[in-house]
Amino acid sequence: VGLVVALTGGIGSGKTTVADRLAALGAGVIDTDVIARTLTAPNGAALEPIIETFGAALRCADGTLDRARLRDRVFADSGARAQLEAILHPRIEAIMLEQLAALQTVYAVLVIPLLFETGQERHADRVLVVDVPESIQIARVMQRSGLTEIEVRRIIASQIPRQACNARADDVIDNSGSLAQLEPQVRALHVRYQLSAASGQR
Ligand code: ATP
Repeated sequence: VGLVVALTGGIGSGKTTVADRLAALGAGVIDTDVIARTLTAPNGAALEPIIETFGAALRCADGTLDRARLRDRVFADSGARAQLEAILHPRIEAIMLEQLAALQTVYAVLVIPLLFETGQERHADRVLVVDVPESIQIARVMQRSGLTEIEVRRIIASQIPRQACNARADDVIDNSGSLAQLEPQVRALHVRYQLSAASGQR
């Protein structure tokens, strides 16, 4: 891999949408949300440590993790959240780096929702932020998930503020418009990333 791009943005900003488009164009995409889900699936390496820390009540009858219950448990309790992160983040990071080392593409995209919050910029040559105004974020997340506006606002408030996120980006994609308006921005970045990977310039 000649270039590593970290892709981030707030909840519902369009990270997955952008990553899927870049993957379709030929980028090697590693999504840390996918890794997190695998780690917490039955037989995943993080499941037993989570059950040991938070109790057997988090295990559903079918053996899977009760994600909603875990989310409620850590949302209001920053100590519990820190414990969960201490279990998950090192494992996610290790698998991400392992997958990155095995990639054969011209450049790589690491999708890391809490990039700045977890201090993982060091793994990337460039940071790409997907940006939308809060009103659009709320509308899209509500439509997709059935969360209420208050719940979405609470999650947004727990993430790095929009301006701070954009200020730390090397590249920003504006996803406030249609998918048709997103596409040329994604294509332009793909070309730029291929060129920098080939030239060795960041
Ligand atoms: P999360 O932080 O929750 O993982 P995300 O940043 O990966 O979200 P997506 O899942 O890509 O965001 O997008 C959020 C929702 O908004 C999805 O339902 C997606 O289909 C929709 N969406 C993304 N971009 C657009 C767009 N330009 N126009 C309309 N809908 C969009």
